[in-house]
Amino acid sequence: MDDVVVVGGGIIGASTAYFLSKEGRKVRVIERDPAYKKASFPLSLGGFRRQFFQKENINLGKFALEFISNISNTLKTKDNPNPTASMVPNGYLLLFGSKHADEQYEALKNHKACEAGTKNIPASKLKEIFSWINPDGLETATYTDSKIEGWIDPHMFHNALKNKAIELGAKFEKGDVKKISDINAKTIVSAAGCWTKELLDDVPVVPQKHTVFRVKCPKHYPEMPLTGDLPSGVYWRPEGKEYLAGSPNSKFDCPDLEPEWDDFENLVWPALANRVPEFEQLKLTGGWAGYYDCNILDNNAIVGKHPKYENVFLATGFTGRGLMQSPGIGRGLTELITTGKYQTIDLSCFGIDRIFSKQKRTEPYVL
Ligand SMILES: Cc1cc2nc3c(=O)[nH]c(=O)nc-3n(C[C@H](O)[C@H](O)[C@H](O)COP(=O)(O)OP(=O)(O)OC[C@H]3O[C@@H](n4cnc5c(N)ncnc54)[C@H](O)[C@@H]3O)c2cc1C
Repeated sequence: MDDVVVVGGGIIGASTAYFLSKEGRKVRVIERDPAYKKASFPLSLGGFRRQFFQKENINLGKFALEFISNISNTLKTKDNPNPTASMVPNGYLLLFGSKHADEQYEALKNHKACEAGTKNIPASKLKEIFSWINPDGLETATYTDSKIEGWIDPHMFHNALKNKAIELGAKFEKGDVKKISDINAKTIVSAAGCWTKELLDDVPVVPQKHTVFRVKCPKHYPEMPLTGDLPSGVYWRPEGKEYLAGSPNSKFDCPDLEPEWDDFENLVWPALANRVPEFEQLKLTGGWAGYYDCNILDNNAIVGKHPKYENVFLATGFTGRGLMQSPGIGRGLTELITTGKYQTIDLSCFGIDRIFSKQKRTEPYVL
């Protein structure tokens, strides 16, 4: 019998394998596609933020920064002596019209209680800080300017976690788990992302296709934060000498990952040009689509022990936040598995019982 089997070697599986191995558990990670062609993490935008409504999500975002900032020490291995996640700490700027502003004022109370370091700025003052912005139709904005939010390279981060887990004794193997009952282990962790339902059919997490466009613009602002424009739902950030921009359009039941190219002309370009007039001149240079592991009940994580099994734990449903939450989730699951309860951030609010009793715990907006 195995000690621990983790199903899915994506970012959640790799983080959990790392933290469990650090505690001396013998971990076997089973991954059906070691090239990760359709996995969510390599197709993500790499963003990490603490600007959420719920305190647990704020604290998971804070831990992401702490963890990522230390990986040159903690994830160092013989084969990877200088691990990095290529962090770009440009911050997040979230823009709100009257529809979402009141909710964000409430969120700011939680930011304050968690010492998140978020600043609030009325729309009338935005241009003083961000010369490129057109504030029409905005009421307020929240942002961080002290290098505490930003984005990373998801591949490099995954690689660093996986290498360290392997050095600590974890084994990553190719395999396609058809049923949870096929596994013989003391502890089973389902980290199967948007495919979790194939293994645990009572978990309401499904693949939701999101498209990201790559664009080029004669005017480049390398210091631009990851900016989310709530009135349009479009978000963007610099990427090298170009920009990446996410479509607000998401789709269920899409077996293929062909980008929704029409979204560019219909939704994304108009919203970008409206908010940053210089983006009128931009040119599409590429794009891709990937799946969010979408929790269709309340857009929030589902983490903890599955009550119908003696030994099955799960982590999924991150709905656009799984990369940034992976350090806190890997640590939290390890605490739960090895000591019976959460020791650092209490993640019990993300337990699956709320799903069975249909108690929604919705995090207000999804970017
Ligand atoms: C366009 C886009 C932008 C995003 N932007 C961000 C962002 O800026 N910040 C952020 O934090 N998050 C972002 N996300 C979300 C983030 O990528 C996901 O929440 C996260 O990757 C989920 O991690 P995971 O390990 O659970 O799933 P995955 O990364 O999908 O990994 C799951 C793995 O499990 C394997 N697997 C599944 N079933 C089985 C099985 N039965 N047997 C064996 N292996 C199996 C799969 O092959 C896969 O490799 C974005 C996602 C997309 C698509």
